[in-house]
Amino acid sequence: MKLNVSSIPEEGLQQEVELPIIINNKTKPYIAHVFIKLFRYGRRVLVEGSVKISVQLKCSRCLRETALPIDVAFREEYIPAEDIGGENEQELTDRELDLGFYSNDELDINEVVKEQILLSVPMKPLCREMCRGLCPVCGKDLNEDACNCREGQTDPRLAPLAKFKEILKVRKE
Ligand SMILES: [Zn+2]
Ligand SMILES: [Zn+2]
Repeated sequence: MKLNVSSIPEEGLQQEVELPIIINNKTKPYIAHVFIKLFRYGRRVLVEGSVKISVQLKCSRCLRETALPIDVAFREEYIPAEDIGGENEQELTDRELDLGFYSNDELDINEVVKEQILLSVPMKPLCREMCRGLCPVCGKDLNEDACNCREGQTDPRLAPLAKFKEILKVRKE
């Protein structure tokens, strides 16, 4: 969905839409439910709204595909990319508000939404809070069942080794 900035009316614009968002090129687009409000001040556009979407991600511990629901509210200001490097530069660097850019009078709402989604995706997604992950020795998914290596670690003679493995695991993370 692309909007011509100059066509945003004085009183602002409000929309509720379903937008197909391409997060990566390997999967088909995800449908985002978007509520958005736009206000224009000269060439500046204030965009605020919310995005609801469910994306498929790999759990960082057990590597299983998992659906992650995202519900994010945002507020961001957009200015014409053409203005950068001009006399407005100083003013720009002084600002603290989240700032984005549009060009040729065109604001791509899909890009606005995609950016908000990418900002909300955790660095290490989990399928569930208490995911046990994979056994570092045999690779078994410990959510399904314990493996023999794990039982071995309860052997007191192997305790120092287990401790060492634990340290290695912590270092790797
Ligand atoms: Zn998991
Ligand atoms: Zn194991």
